[in-house]
Amino acid sequence: MSKQLIYSGKAKDLYSTADENVIIAQYKDQATMLNGARKEEIQGKGKLNNQISSLIFRHLMAAGIKTHFIEELSETEQSNVKVDIIPLEVVLRNFTAGSFSKRFGIEEGQLLPQPIVEFYYKNDDLDDPFINDEHILFLGIASEEELAHLKAEARHINEVLKDLFSKIGLTLIDYKLEFGRTSSGEIILADEVSPDTCRLWDAEGNHMDKDVFRRNLGSVTDVYQVVLDKLKALG
Ligand code: UDP
Repeated sequence: MSKQLIYSGKAKDLYSTADENVIIAQYKDQATMLNGARKEEIQGKGKLNNQISSLIFRHLMAAGIKTHFIEELSETEQSNVKVDIIPLEVVLRNFTAGSFSKRFGIEEGQLLPQPIVEFYYKNDDLDDPFINDEHILFLGIASEEELAHLKAEARHINEVLKDLFSKIGLTLIDYKLEFGRTSSGEIILADEVSPDTCRLWDAEGNHMDKDVFRRNLGSVTDVYQVVLDKLKALG
């Protein structure tokens, strides 16, 4: 059996392929926030995020990080290793911003002395609540060893991404990762890494990420195109 829709997400549709271990992710022209309560069609966003995410996955893999990325298939599609997504959003923060600033009443843009890893439980019905290690163990989402691995991977990825973005004049403020288990039980980086999932500020403090959409700061695609062009220029 070839290409069949297996999951329609907010930013991507996933298709099965003839190979049971491979799926195709089709990046969509859709932006959502507040768990889908605000939804907009943004023409060209899917194409940009597919390219940016592919480029970043290739870069991470070259640095020794295991990801689900296989290859870019078209402007909006990439093939990925099929995984069972671990229902956690692994957020890593280098600077205060977003929900961290709100939760703790700290203005955005403060450098954290050490990067902070947070977990959110991926569950739309519950609005992806903040969750700690002990909750994760209680719910059986991941084992203690797996949690330690997720944190170590998030920190390793941070070093690679911080360096990559600093080369194009952008500061990596924070980002969200998702991991999955392969058919052999190995945990690898999955989902996407793009301006939809990372906060990136330029030297003047301009938002070069999804906050342009969340905060109505201008054209999302213009900004994502700048990020893509700069990454491409690195070669
Ligand atoms: N993030 C994401 N998907 C989510 C929630 C957050 O990609 O469902 C990213 C977000 O773009 C930012 C980081 O995770 O780079 C931290 O987000 P935060 O917790 O500050 O939440 P927000 O302010 O985006 O609601």
